Amino acid sequence: MEKREFLYEGKAKKLYGTDDPTQVVVEYKDHLTAFNAQKKATMGGKGRLNNLISAHLFEKLRDRGIPVHFERILDDVHQLVKKVVIFPLEVVVRNITTGSLCKRLGIREGMELPRPLVEFYYKEDALDDPLILEDHALLFGWATREELDTIKALALRVNDELREIFSGLGIILVDFKLEFGRDMEGNLLLADEISPDTCRFWDRSTGDRLDKDRFRKDLGDVLGAYEEIWRRLSGGAGR
Ligand code: UDP
Repeated sequence: MEKREFLYEGKAKKLYGTDDPTQVVVEYKDHLTAFNAQKKATMGGKGRLNNLISAHLFEKLRDRGIPVHFERILDDVHQLVKKVVIFPLEVVVRNITTGSLCKRLGIREGMELPRPLVEFYYKEDALDDPLILEDHALLFGWATREELDTIKALALRVNDELREIFSGLGIILVDFKLEFGRDMEGNLLLADEISPDTCRFWDRSTGDRLDKDRFRKDLGDVLGAYEEIWRRLSGGAGR
């Protein structure tokens, strides 16, 4: 599959066309950003790790019946995915309280929720991705009732599957962000990435943060944490 014309550059990824109009190539970059890109860094090897981790998780989810945009990994930093039009929504699933939830509502950190919480944010950098109600999405035409229901049900299924996968590796899945889109045939698919950039992972025995919070909070050894996630997911064999 040939990487053709450059299409788009985001904070952590670049998109390229291919010779197939229904597919695009995603390139994972070494850039790390936090707080809506107010904090930035480049970390050699981060793109490779996120590409490997994300591809691995998309494969697992696909095997378990979740519709995904992911087709196949191409090399260390590239993967082939179905071209989708992304809903302008960030879907956050939370199992344990932390981050913006605690800040916004004055809730204590580290509380296990009695059931997973699903939140919708409006994907708009200029507004800092504000938290929205489902009614906002409906009234402003960002998704239909049916689409929101499907997205929410899929997000909860993804949470179940990911929790099981990570629990087997001694990792607590605290929360994560998903994005969804529609491909050219109209299928609603899980898209974007699933990586330590977009999830919070806590080591079950030590409580160590194995995700982008190491960067957000200057905890050090960010790359080491991403490597540890990949080491456990790949069974220590590397790739
Ligand atoms: N998240 C993300 N991209 C965003 C915002 C959040 O991937 O633009 C992820 C984040 O890594 C965490 C979850 O979504 O796993 C919940 O993040 P939260 O709302 O607590 O925001 P934060 O504290 O990161 O600002």
